[in-house]
Amino acid sequence: MDAVRGPVLRISSAQLARNITAVQTRIAPSQLMLVMKDDAYGHGLEEMVDASMAAPAPVAMYGGYDVPTSLRIRARVGAGARVFAWASSDADAVSAALESDIDLGVGTAAYLRRVIEAASKTGIRARVHLKIDTGLHRNGFRAEEWADAVTEVTDAERAGLIELAGVWSHLAEASDAEDDEAARAFATAVDVVRKAGGDPSALHLTASAASWWRPELRGTISRIGAFCYGIRSADGPAIPGTLPIATLEAHVVDVRGDDVVIGAGWLHGIPSTLTGMPVGTQAGATEVLHIDATTMVVRSWAGASIGDPVRLFGAGEWGESDATALAERIDTVGEEILTRVSPLVPRRYS
Ligand SMILES: *Cc1c(COP(=O)(O)O)cnc(C)c1O
Repeated sequence: MDAVRGPVLRISSAQLARNITAVQTRIAPSQLMLVMKDDAYGHGLEEMVDASMAAPAPVAMYGGYDVPTSLRIRARVGAGARVFAWASSDADAVSAALESDIDLGVGTAAYLRRVIEAASKTGIRARVHLKIDTGLHRNGFRAEEWADAVTEVTDAERAGLIELAGVWSHLAEASDAEDDEAARAFATAVDVVRKAGGDPSALHLTASAASWWRPELRGTISRIGAFCYGIRSADGPAIPGTLPIATLEAHVVDVRGDDVVIGAGWLHGIPSTLTGMPVGTQAGATEVLHIDATTMVVRSWAGASIGDPVRLFGAGEWGESDATALAERIDTVGEEILTRVSPLVPRRYS
């Protein structure tokens, strides 16, 4: 007899490619930067790079967040594709990034100097995307610091140490009015760069939701993670042409009268506060009554038997919710449900 089977995260590489195509079609002529932080939102970075390369149109740029992730992307995607790392990093990481042809997002004066020093030390011109803070206050030069930053960058560009490849920012996506104001601040910042003689080809401001719904805010590049993995926004509609690529599947381990025990629990990353959620079976949806460490109890259905597969979240074929619907129950976002799935849960790719 097999030991009790644990849950499995089934991931469709073909669906990732289809989602990428749907996103590319929607945002054109803006180009896709596929964001891959947090191990590609829990889906597995290397496998998702491979899957992205099967899309009919190439992904223009990959977003790695930090340098280690970006180096993993570079190792998988090969030379040629653009890879963007925007977390401020130490001098060794910056040198490693330059040696692997990684574009760097720069949003503070101290980091700008570190990048210029690394370029001068390695003899490799740094491709820099300068970040303007347009209201989120997370990182990025403030409006009053911008002119000085631009001067420093254009000087370094003339000295051959930097190529000013882009200007970027991040939207709050709290309200359209705030995002409009951020877009105006962004346009002003780009003007300052152009007046100083800079000619950045990559302008990027929007992530999934604004890239999809606010075409007037799209730059030449759109940084998109969630919608490519088929994760819609909390309280937002399904995204036409896309589907969730991941299904969390577990199995019936016991049937006790009206209770059916499933072999997955909060140790696998299912928040115990999701009691009441629907899960999918081959006979349709049923309800979760209780979530323990390694098991959960769901309401029985006709013919339930040990070994039957149950879908805890997925694309909805068996009546299960998508990850975002689970997230909405506990006031978070679908990304959190995916990234919480324990690394102990094997990922199976098809
Ligand atoms: C995570 C992230 C994105 C992607 O956001 P999604 O909503 O998943 O598309 C874009 N830009 C930055 C700076 C991010 O950190």
